[in-house]
Amino acid sequence: MTNEPHAESLRIFEEIGVDRDPENLYHQTIEHVLVAAELVGMQHHQRIILAQPMNEIMVHFPVLMDNGHHELFKGYRVQHNNALGPFKGGIRYHSHVNLDDVKSLAALMTMKCALVGVPFGGGKGGVKCNPRELSPDELQRVTRRFVSAIQNEIGPDYDIPAPDVGTDSRVMGWFADTYALTTPPHESHDSMRVVTGKPVDIGGSLGREKATGQGLVDVLVEMLPELGIDIEGMSFSVIGYGNVGGWTARLLDALGAKLVAVLDHTGAIASENGLSVRDLSDYVDEYGGVQGFSGAEAIDTEAFYKSPVDVFIPAALEQMIGEQEAMWMNCRVVAEGANAPTTPAGDLILMQRGIEVLPAILCNAGGVTVSYFEWVQNKTSTRWTEEEVDERLNTHMVSAAKKVNQARLMYECDLRTASFCAACEQLKRVYEHRGVFP
Ligand code: NAD
Repeated sequence: MTNEPHAESLRIFEEIGVDRDPENLYHQTIEHVLVAAELVGMQHHQRIILAQPMNEIMVHFPVLMDNGHHELFKGYRVQHNNALGPFKGGIRYHSHVNLDDVKSLAALMTMKCALVGVPFGGGKGGVKCNPRELSPDELQRVTRRFVSAIQNEIGPDYDIPAPDVGTDSRVMGWFADTYALTTPPHESHDSMRVVTGKPVDIGGSLGREKATGQGLVDVLVEMLPELGIDIEGMSFSVIGYGNVGGWTARLLDALGAKLVAVLDHTGAIASENGLSVRDLSDYVDEYGGVQGFSGAEAIDTEAFYKSPVDVFIPAALEQMIGEQEAMWMNCRVVAEGANAPTTPAGDLILMQRGIEVLPAILCNAGGVTVSYFEWVQNKTSTRWTEEEVDERLNTHMVSAAKKVNQARLMYECDLRTASFCAACEQLKRVYEHRGVFP
């Protein structure tokens, strides 16, 4: 796909009253959706439904800070589409959280669930805050007040949040507890199911913490051989050493791949001979970032992007690979662990340079897949072993990768467009069965 959206998609922007801005992340995402919807022949009413979220919820709530003052926080929950099942999507705590980005991430969840074959729709939420500047008590109070502010908008069979940037299993534990305590007693036995990514002791699934990284590695194992890359011995770099980046690095390291460069919010490091992933993981756990790690050389951002690798894995925030970064990059394949890490301009350069991009809605769908497994285990009061979880995850990921490859051949397009086409095919089938009320 090029930067120019198809004429039909432009007409839909006009029709729904959106002044298209190519820099706006939500507009970029919807362009991908609309172009794919057009390619697979979705009907007009199906396309306008996908062009806007079903619900956009914005809340403000006060929180008592450790210094005795109250601070007002802004939170969001966007519910994009629930044609396939309950809304599903993470909760982000970050100082740049804003409505359009949350809308974009919610729409991506709709596409991801459709692609990977889990019966959920798309949602996303967040609180505008810097969790690194909050004490654990403040973080807990922000979480509990946020849950109470959106209490009536979520539910175990309606909208099920999960962790995302800046939130983790501990936050999900507080989330579930608050929801359960504020639910009428006769319903509360099942109410912890309102959120996934919980600690294992309170109903979390084995294998959930590493699931997004594991799913990404499953996709690489499936797709790299066709691209002429052997995982054993390949070199890779990552942006972000949090949940997705850290787990991907550990799992690829275990398969014999070599991590040569990392960039995170604290700085960049590299080692041509390969970094010790175990030592780096311990270091990041202790110090919160890669800067200062003694087993590598400190480099600047430009040198990080220019580091020669077989596979480059962005696993931090959106829109980090722009035009300049795409020109710098020295890799054969980009595997998108983060959501929307590549700008349209960056995408075009990578395409022109013959760098293959494995798209985010495929690569990072492992998280929502194992979230679905957690939800099923909670609903049926069962517990699967980690091996069972990994095996079922692999089935979903391999099947999704095959669907993307087939769509690429069928619609003669790049892998990103193909991934959206495969997702839209599923939504089209569902809408054709369900119709539109009344
Ligand atoms: P995280 O909070 O665990 O880690 C985020 C990482 O990004 C950290 O290492 C941080 O240092 C780095 N980072 C932040 N700002 C940066 C900057 N300006 N430059 C370089 N690095 C920066 O988050 P996560 O859960 O690993 O999520 C990462 C991405 O993966 C996000 O796009 C998220 O939406 C996506 N994702 C996460 C999951 C999941 O299960 N956690 C699932 C699907 C997609």
